[in-house]
Amino acid sequence: MNRRRRIYDGKAKILYEGPEPGTIIQHFKDDATAFNAKKHEIIDGKGVLNNRISEFIFQSLNEIGLPTHFIRRLNMREQLVRQVEIIPLEVVVRNIAAGSLAKRLGMEEGRRLPRPIIEFYYKKDELDDPMVTEDHILAFGWASFQELEDITSLAFRINDFLTGLFRGVGILLVDFKIETGRIWEDDESHVVLADEISPDSCRLWDAKTQDKLDKDRFRRDMGGLIEAYSEVARRLGILLDNDTASFGDSGPQLVPDPETTHDPRGNSVGRKPE
Ligand code: UDP
Repeated sequence: MNRRRRIYDGKAKILYEGPEPGTIIQHFKDDATAFNAKKHEIIDGKGVLNNRISEFIFQSLNEIGLPTHFIRRLNMREQLVRQVEIIPLEVVVRNIAAGSLAKRLGMEEGRRLPRPIIEFYYKKDELDDPMVTEDHILAFGWASFQELEDITSLAFRINDFLTGLFRGVGILLVDFKIETGRIWEDDESHVVLADEISPDSCRLWDAKTQDKLDKDRFRRDMGGLIEAYSEVARRLGILLDNDTASFGDSGPQLVPDPETTHDPRGNSVGRKPE
Protein backbone atom coordinates (compact mmCIF):
# COMPACT_ATOMS: atom_id res chain seq x y z
CA MET A 1 0.00 0.00 0.00
CA ASN A 2 2.80 2.33 0.94
CA ARG A 3 4.75 3.43 -2.10
CA ARG A 4 5.91 6.70 -0.63
CA ARG A 5 9.61 7.22 -0.35
CA ARG A 6 10.85 7.21 3.23
CA ILE A 7 13.33 10.02 3.71
CA TYR A 8 14.15 9.63 7.38
CA ASP A 9 13.21 7.28 10.22
CA GLY A 10 13.64 9.12 13.51
CA LYS A 11 13.04 8.26 17.15
CA ALA A 12 9.43 9.42 17.25
CA LYS A 13 8.66 10.34 13.65
CA ILE A 14 9.09 9.12 10.08
CA LEU A 15 9.42 11.55 7.20
CA TYR A 16 8.13 10.63 3.75
CA GLU A 17 8.44 12.45 0.47
CA GLY A 18 5.38 14.69 0.06
CA PRO A 19 2.93 14.77 -2.84
CA GLU A 20 4.45 17.92 -4.36
CA PRO A 21 8.05 19.09 -4.62
CA GLY A 22 9.06 21.00 -1.51
CA THR A 23 6.67 19.08 0.75
CA ILE A 24 7.18 16.32 3.29
CA ILE A 25 4.81 14.04 5.19
CA GLN A 26 5.59 13.88 8.89
CA HIS A 27 4.32 10.64 10.50
CA PHE A 28 4.03 10.47 14.31
CA LYS A 29 4.96 7.07 15.77
CA ASP A 30 4.01 5.67 19.18
CA ASP A 31 7.66 5.25 20.15
CA ALA A 32 8.78 6.99 23.31
CA THR A 33 12.52 7.42 23.79
CA ALA A 34 14.68 9.17 26.35
CA PHE A 35 18.35 9.51 27.25
CA ASN A 36 19.34 9.48 23.58
CA ALA A 37 17.16 6.42 22.88
CA LYS A 38 18.77 4.32 25.64
CA LYS A 39 15.25 4.02 27.05
CA HIS A 40 12.58 3.01 24.55
CA GLU A 41 8.94 1.92 24.71
CA ILE A 42 5.91 1.86 22.46
CA ILE A 43 3.01 3.76 24.00
CA ASP A 44 -0.25 3.19 22.09
CA GLY A 45 -1.92 6.42 21.07
CA LYS A 46 0.99 8.79 21.76
CA GLY A 47 1.58 9.53 18.07
CA VAL A 48 -2.05 10.38 17.47
CA LEU A 49 -2.14 12.77 20.43
CA ASN A 50 1.14 14.47 19.50
CA ASN A 51 0.02 14.89 15.89
CA ARG A 52 -3.15 16.67 17.01
CA ILE A 53 -1.55 18.75 19.76
CA SER A 54 1.31 19.83 17.48
CA GLU A 55 -1.14 20.63 14.68
CA PHE A 56 -3.17 22.80 17.04
CA ILE A 57 -0.07 24.72 18.16
CA PHE A 58 1.50 25.16 14.71
CA GLN A 59 -1.83 26.21 13.21
CA SER A 60 -2.26 28.79 15.97
CA LEU A 61 1.27 30.09 15.41
CA ASN A 62 0.64 30.35 11.65
CA GLU A 63 -2.54 32.29 12.41
CA ILE A 64 -0.69 34.89 14.48
CA GLY A 65 1.91 35.30 11.74
CA LEU A 66 4.81 33.26 13.12
CA PRO A 67 6.44 31.29 10.30
CA THR A 68 6.21 27.48 10.58
CA HIS A 69 6.66 24.54 8.22
CA PHE A 70 3.11 23.30 8.91
CA ILE A 71 0.69 23.11 5.97
CA ARG A 72 -2.14 20.83 7.16
CA ARG A 73 -2.89 17.62 8.97
CA LEU A 74 -3.56 14.70 6.64
CA ASN A 75 -4.87 12.06 9.04
CA MET A 76 -4.63 10.97 12.66
CA ARG A 77 -0.90 10.30 12.46
CA GLU A 78 0.37 12.45 9.62
CA GLN A 79 0.76 16.04 8.62
CA LEU A 80 1.90 17.75 5.46
CA VAL A 81 4.74 20.19 6.01
CA ARG A 82 7.09 22.30 3.91
CA GLN A 83 10.48 20.81 3.28
CA VAL A 84 13.14 22.78 5.12
CA GLU A 85 16.88 22.59 5.54
CA ILE A 86 17.09 21.73 9.24
CA ILE A 87 19.38 24.01 11.26
CA PRO A 88 21.30 21.55 13.48
CA LEU A 89 20.32 23.14 16.79
CA GLU A 90 17.88 22.25 19.54
CA VAL A 91 16.65 25.51 20.98
CA VAL A 92 15.35 25.36 24.55
CA VAL A 93 13.41 28.14 26.25
CA ARG A 94 12.93 27.94 30.02
CA ASN A 95 10.59 29.77 32.37
CA ILE A 96 10.93 27.60 35.47
CA ALA A 97 13.98 25.61 36.61
CA ALA A 98 13.70 21.89 35.79
CA GLY A 99 15.52 19.01 34.15
CA SER A 100 19.09 19.57 33.03
CA LEU A 101 19.19 23.22 34.14
CA ALA A 102 18.16 22.36 37.69
CA LYS A 103 20.74 19.58 37.76
CA ARG A 104 23.58 21.58 36.19
CA LEU A 105 23.13 24.62 38.42
CA GLY A 106 22.04 22.74 41.55
CA MET A 107 18.71 24.53 41.55
CA GLU A 108 15.49 23.23 42.99
CA GLU A 109 12.98 22.19 40.31
CA GLY A 110 10.04 24.57 40.23
CA ARG A 111 11.90 27.80 40.90
CA ARG A 112 10.66 30.56 38.60
CA LEU A 113 13.54 32.02 36.60
CA PRO A 114 14.09 35.81 36.73
CA ARG A 115 13.27 35.94 33.01
CA PRO A 116 12.91 33.43 30.18
CA ILE A 117 16.26 31.88 29.30
CA ILE A 118 17.29 30.49 25.91
CA GLU A 119 19.83 27.69 25.41
CA PHE A 120 21.26 26.08 22.28
CA TYR A 121 22.25 22.44 21.87
CA TYR A 122 24.10 21.05 18.86
CA LYS A 123 22.02 18.26 17.26
CA LYS A 124 24.43 15.35 17.24
CA ASP A 125 23.24 12.03 18.68
CA GLU A 126 26.78 10.61 18.86
CA LEU A 127 27.69 13.44 21.24
CA ASP A 128 24.37 13.43 23.18
CA ASP A 129 23.45 16.88 21.85
CA PRO A 130 25.98 19.04 23.74
CA MET A 131 25.09 22.55 24.86
CA VAL A 132 26.80 25.20 22.73
CA THR A 133 27.20 28.96 22.82
CA GLU A 134 26.25 31.48 20.16
CA ASP A 135 29.96 31.83 19.41
CA HIS A 136 30.24 28.10 18.60
CA ILE A 137 27.22 28.37 16.33
CA LEU A 138 28.66 31.34 14.42
CA ALA A 139 32.24 30.08 14.33
CA PHE A 140 31.24 26.65 13.00
CA GLY A 141 28.69 28.15 10.61
CA TRP A 142 25.67 26.20 11.89
CA ALA A 143 23.64 29.41 11.55
CA SER A 144 24.44 32.95 10.45
CA PHE A 145 24.27 35.95 12.76
CA GLN A 146 20.96 37.03 11.20
CA GLU A 147 19.53 33.52 11.50
CA LEU A 148 20.51 33.35 15.15
CA GLU A 149 18.73 36.66 15.76
CA ASP A 150 15.66 35.33 13.94
CA ILE A 151 15.72 32.01 15.82
CA THR A 152 16.02 33.80 19.17
CA SER A 153 13.20 36.21 18.47
CA LEU A 154 10.99 33.38 17.11
CA ALA A 155 11.69 31.24 20.19
CA PHE A 156 10.75 34.03 22.62
CA ARG A 157 7.61 34.91 20.67
CA ILE A 158 6.58 31.25 20.71
CA ASN A 159 7.25 31.21 24.46
CA ASP A 160 5.00 34.25 24.98
CA PHE A 161 2.23 32.71 22.93
CA LEU A 162 2.44 29.25 24.49
CA THR A 163 2.73 30.58 28.04
CA GLY A 164 -0.57 32.41 27.56
CA LEU A 165 -2.24 29.55 25.73
CA PHE A 166 -1.41 27.03 28.45
CA ARG A 167 -1.98 29.44 31.36
CA GLY A 168 -5.52 29.89 30.05
CA VAL A 169 -6.18 26.18 30.54
CA GLY A 170 -4.50 25.85 33.93
CA ILE A 171 -1.11 24.61 32.75
CA LEU A 172 2.35 26.05 33.47
CA LEU A 173 4.79 26.04 30.56
CA VAL A 174 8.01 25.17 32.37
CA ASP A 175 10.25 24.81 29.31
CA PHE A 176 10.21 23.55 25.73
CA LYS A 177 12.46 22.64 22.84
CA ILE A 178 12.06 23.74 19.24
CA GLU A 179 13.87 23.08 15.99
CA THR A 180 14.06 25.46 13.09
CA GLY A 181 14.80 25.22 9.41
CA ARG A 182 15.64 27.32 6.38
CA ILE A 183 13.30 27.75 3.47
CA TRP A 184 14.93 28.97 0.28
CA GLU A 185 13.11 31.30 -2.07
CA ASP A 186 15.19 32.31 -5.08
CA ASP A 187 18.57 33.05 -3.56
CA GLU A 188 17.29 34.05 -0.16
CA SER A 189 16.42 31.93 2.83
CA HIS A 190 14.33 32.56 5.90
CA VAL A 191 13.95 30.74 9.20
CA VAL A 192 10.78 28.85 10.08
CA LEU A 193 9.71 26.70 13.02
CA ALA A 194 9.96 22.99 12.11
CA ASP A 195 9.59 19.56 13.77
CA GLU A 196 6.87 19.46 16.46
CA ILE A 197 5.69 21.07 19.68
CA SER A 198 3.97 18.52 21.92
CA PRO A 199 4.17 17.14 25.46
CA ASP A 200 7.18 15.17 24.15
CA SER A 201 9.10 18.41 23.72
CA CYS A 202 7.65 20.62 26.49
CA ARG A 203 7.45 20.47 30.26
CA LEU A 204 3.85 21.12 31.23
CA TRP A 205 2.72 21.19 34.86
CA ASP A 206 -0.81 21.43 36.14
CA ALA A 207 -0.98 24.94 37.62
CA LYS A 208 -2.83 23.82 40.76
CA THR A 209 -1.36 20.42 41.58
CA GLN A 210 2.02 20.71 39.77
CA ASP A 211 1.26 17.28 38.26
CA LYS A 212 3.48 16.54 35.29
CA LEU A 213 1.58 16.40 31.98
CA ASP A 214 4.56 15.67 29.74
CA LYS A 215 7.30 13.23 28.77
CA ASP A 216 8.90 13.37 32.22
CA ARG A 217 6.23 10.77 33.12
CA PHE A 218 8.10 8.40 30.80
CA ARG A 219 11.64 9.61 31.59
CA ARG A 220 11.01 9.22 35.34
CA ASP A 221 8.93 6.00 35.13
CA MET A 222 5.85 7.67 36.59
CA GLY A 223 3.33 5.97 34.27
CA GLY A 224 0.12 7.61 33.07
CA LEU A 225 1.66 9.22 30.00
CA ILE A 226 -1.36 8.78 27.74
CA GLU A 227 -3.70 10.06 30.43
CA ALA A 228 -1.48 13.13 30.86
CA TYR A 229 -1.21 13.88 27.11
CA SER A 230 -4.98 13.31 26.81
CA GLU A 231 -5.53 15.83 29.59
CA VAL A 232 -3.48 18.41 27.69
CA ALA A 233 -5.48 17.69 24.52
CA ARG A 234 -8.76 17.85 26.42
CA ARG A 235 -7.91 21.22 27.97
CA LEU A 236 -6.92 22.59 24.57
CA GLY A 237 -10.32 21.48 23.27
CA ILE A 238 -8.90 18.84 20.94
CA LEU A 239 -10.15 15.78 22.86
CA LEU A 240 -13.77 15.26 23.83
CA ASP A 241 -14.50 16.09 27.50
CA ASN A 242 -16.11 12.78 28.29
CA ASP A 243 -13.29 10.71 26.88
CA THR A 244 -11.69 8.64 29.58
CA ALA A 245 -8.50 8.11 27.61
CA SER A 246 -9.17 4.38 27.56
CA PHE A 247 -8.33 4.10 23.92
CA GLY A 248 -8.72 0.36 23.48
CA ASP A 249 -8.20 -0.74 19.92
CA SER A 250 -9.57 2.32 18.29
CA GLY A 251 -7.13 4.96 19.48
CA PRO A 252 -8.05 8.23 21.18
CA GLN A 253 -11.45 9.67 20.30
CA LEU A 254 -10.54 13.12 19.16
CA VAL A 255 -12.86 15.98 18.37
CA PRO A 256 -13.66 15.70 14.65
CA ASP A 257 -11.89 18.30 12.61
CA PRO A 258 -14.31 20.18 10.35
CA GLU A 259 -11.58 20.46 7.71
CA THR A 260 -10.90 16.78 7.30
CA THR A 261 -12.70 13.50 7.31
CA HIS A 262 -11.26 10.48 9.02
CA ASP A 263 -12.35 7.28 10.62
CA PRO A 264 -11.86 6.83 14.35
CA ARG A 265 -8.85 4.60 13.81
CA GLY A 266 -7.23 7.36 11.86
CA ASN A 267 -6.48 5.29 8.81
CA SER A 268 -8.15 7.24 6.09
CA VAL A 269 -7.03 10.55 4.75
CA GLY A 270 -8.96 13.18 3.05
CA ARG A 271 -9.76 16.79 2.86
CA LYS A 272 -13.44 17.48 2.42
CA PRO A 273 -14.19 18.82 -1.03
CA GLU A 274 -14.18 22.63 -0.89
N1 UDP B 1 13.91 18.33 25.15
C1 UDP B 1 13.51 17.69 24.00
N2 UDP B 1 14.40 16.87 23.36
C2 UDP B 1 15.66 16.66 23.81
C3 UDP B 1 16.06 17.31 24.99
C4 UDP B 1 15.17 18.14 25.64
O1 UDP B 1 12.38 17.87 23.54
O2 UDP B 1 16.41 15.92 23.18
C5 UDP B 1 12.97 19.23 25.84
C6 UDP B 1 12.50 18.65 27.16
O3 UDP B 1 11.29 17.94 26.98
C7 UDP B 1 12.28 19.88 28.00
C8 UDP B 1 13.29 20.89 27.45
O4 UDP B 1 13.64 20.42 26.16
O5 UDP B 1 10.98 20.39 27.80
C9 UDP B 1 14.53 21.04 28.30
O6 UDP B 1 15.09 19.78 28.53
P1 UDP B 1 16.36 19.59 29.49
O7 UDP B 1 17.52 20.34 28.92
O8 UDP B 1 15.96 19.94 30.87
O9 UDP B 1 16.76 18.10 29.32
P2 UDP B 1 16.29 16.76 30.01
O10 UDP B 1 16.12 17.00 31.46
O11 UDP B 1 15.01 16.44 29.30
O12 UDP B 1 17.40 15.83 29.67
